[in-house]
Amino acid sequence: MKTMIDISKLVRPNVMALKPYSSARDDFKNIDSDYVFLDANENPFNNGLNRYPDPQQNKLKAVLSGLKQISKEQILLGNGSDEVLDLIFRAFCEPNEDSVALLPPTYGMYEVLANVNAIKTIKVLLTEDFQPNVKAILNAVVKTTKLLFLCSPNNPTANSFNASVVEELLQSFHGLVVIDEAYIDFSTQESWLNRLDEFPNLIVTQTLSKAFGLAGIRLGICYASKEIIDILNKIKPPYNINELTQQKAISQLQNTTEVQQEIKTILEQRELILKELKDISFIQKIYPSDANFLLLQVDDANERYAQLIAKDVVVRNRSKEPLCDNCLRITVGNSKENQYLIRALKNLKPSL
Ligand SMILES: *Cc1c(COP(=O)(O)O)cnc(C)c1O
Repeated sequence: MKTMIDISKLVRPNVMALKPYSSARDDFKNIDSDYVFLDANENPFNNGLNRYPDPQQNKLKAVLSGLKQISKEQILLGNGSDEVLDLIFRAFCEPNEDSVALLPPTYGMYEVLANVNAIKTIKVLLTEDFQPNVKAILNAVVKTTKLLFLCSPNNPTANSFNASVVEELLQSFHGLVVIDEAYIDFSTQESWLNRLDEFPNLIVTQTLSKAFGLAGIRLGICYASKEIIDILNKIKPPYNINELTQQKAISQLQNTTEVQQEIKTILEQRELILKELKDISFIQKIYPSDANFLLLQVDDANERYAQLIAKDVVVRNRSKEPLCDNCLRITVGNSKENQYLIRALKNLKPSL
């Protein structure tokens, strides 16, 4: 059954009313044609990058559309997921009035973006097994809570949220549900992309920064209903995805065999590390992972973090996060890096 929701009631009034900037290239999309382009004050001498990039990234979206089996009109691209998430805040959350719901421990950017945009946060801790606490969330949100952020697989806990729990939230939360799927290509769970048409309040974000190996080009992807994408399109900077990023993204998205092989290798390496870590006495707990990193509980995270740095290994100390006492987050590297990590860990004093 389709959930009923009026998106236009969730949008900020100024965004609803605004007329977007119309760029010179909006009217003449086919830049490859034989027009004489004298409309954008560009330098006429061709060096491959002298023209502004396609503001709607049509070629790149066509590739994504084919790959994900979703209409181009349901895709918005950003300069990393960070920009996509910021656009969602700016479209739907009225500064100093609205709030968003966050489920710590989770990705730190949601709170930073809330603070940047002067949006209150309502925080509801995950349960002990790192699942959303549906009852507590529905109790905590108020009428002006516009967004609920679900990160699945979740950073830093590494697990995915149960589909039934997510579905319950999609059906009962009155605002938009943003599911951050940065790690979905490592996951055994199905993407929520396949359910977009069922839930008009669903926004799914993905990125080329992790499994696709392109953190350097900054490409984040937002999938939602055409209605939501149209609103985000109104406020996005016209040329937010540069030409080099568009070209590199297209070639990597078509490079499926290699990307799939890398994902497979990373997952095999994760299992290898896991086996080795089980023998190390100061590691008290290794949380199940559905992503390309592991969350471990050690005897003293600050001390072990510093000891690893002294051995030239940089991990992430997450011990200040709620429910993450003495936890370190370790990214799965390549085989050589992982061997180095394991040797370093095994050479640390077994107890402090
Ligand atoms: C790494 C990560 C991202 C990626 O952000 P980009 O801006 O696309 O690089 C998004 N969400 C989560 C939870 C992440 O861990």
